[in-house]
Amino acid sequence: MKKVALHWQILIAFIIAIVFGIFFKDQVNYVSWMGDIFLRMLKMIVIPLILSSIVSGISNIGSEGNFGRLGIKTLGYYLMTTILAISVGLLLVDLIKPGVGMDISSITVNESLDFKRQSISDMLIQIVPQNIFKSMASNEFLSVIFFAIIVGVFISKVDNKNKTILSDFFNAFFELFMKMTMLIIKLAPFGIFGLIVKVVAEQNDFGNMIVKLGSFMITVIAAILIHALISLPLITRFIGKAKPYKHFNNVKTTLITAFSTASSAAALPLNMKETNEKSGVSHKITNFTLPIGATVNMDGTAIYIAAVVMFIAQAKGVEMGFKEQLTVLIIAVLSSIGTAAVPMASLVIITIILEVLGLPIEMMALILPVDRILDMFRTATNVWSDSCGAVVIAKSEGEILNV
Ligand code: ASP
Repeated sequence: MKKVALHWQILIAFIIAIVFGIFFKDQVNYVSWMGDIFLRMLKMIVIPLILSSIVSGISNIGSEGNFGRLGIKTLGYYLMTTILAISVGLLLVDLIKPGVGMDISSITVNESLDFKRQSISDMLIQIVPQNIFKSMASNEFLSVIFFAIIVGVFISKVDNKNKTILSDFFNAFFELFMKMTMLIIKLAPFGIFGLIVKVVAEQNDFGNMIVKLGSFMITVIAAILIHALISLPLITRFIGKAKPYKHFNNVKTTLITAFSTASSAAALPLNMKETNEKSGVSHKITNFTLPIGATVNMDGTAIYIAAVVMFIAQAKGVEMGFKEQLTVLIIAVLSSIGTAAVPMASLVIITIILEVLGLPIEMMALILPVDRILDMFRTATNVWSDSCGAVVIAKSEGEILNV
């Protein structure tokens, strides 16, 4: 028998859960434990996954071996495009307001809205961990990300023998946690079922929720398209002095692969090949920038993370002023760095973000059925940004390209 793809399983679980929640309101407790276990498993995996994903991504910087000029330029480009992407996303969420008017009062809500109480400078100071073990134990994921970036950068600075030992260790650690994550993600249909049943049973106006979800999807896709089709080409054109649409045409098979697999890691080999062979970027630059880009530079994912937080905050009626949105921006930048390059990876990190911010994690279950289609768009954008980055950096190094 042919296996049903995971995203279809999730959709089917979603539909069955709606029917179950409507007709068997009183039996909800018999199945809602599946949702709780699913969330606990995601939380169990997130810190080791973030740590190993970042360290192994940054320390594997190939033959270059140190963060010299090329490293600074590459990280500078990644930071610039990610911040730009999130800004476009925040602007659209502010304009469209997809979450406003959605009644989620019935969903269990944790009342501690931490980011409302903290000033930006306090938040930035607290990103630097005092004790990394304490940060890991208390789910301070921003501190864990900060620490992992530093460890990754410094692994490239230790002597060759130890560098190999350390990189091998973190690569193995990452592979282990990736395997576990993939298994947990496979259980998503059961988790969704358990969570949605509860949401539906407690919700009076489920139709309105679906409409709001539709407007959330449109907002995310619009922000991603603006970033991919306008912002990135402008950067490639004016900073890289290259022809963005010609380059787009050269790497289209890569982008289709990213879109259909929803995995930056799966599209990486093709991206390296097409960016090198068709657009003419040297091996030196593609080998250095694209593998780090695949794990670190995720513009589409950053838009998504910021939009999810804003959407849920709007639904919860939290006033999101400039300060709060700046906090969301910082969280989205760092979290996108910590997201692994596989399908649905943002889900893992979003669970912890919502928990830490005191927003209802159950809302994640509502977004999940539409996650796959959004994942396709965000992954293609993640990969497209990496490839444009390679072109911009190659040009800045004086390379003569075909674009
Ligand atoms: N699927 C994305 C990627 O591989 C990550 C995510 O946003 O879930 O780039």
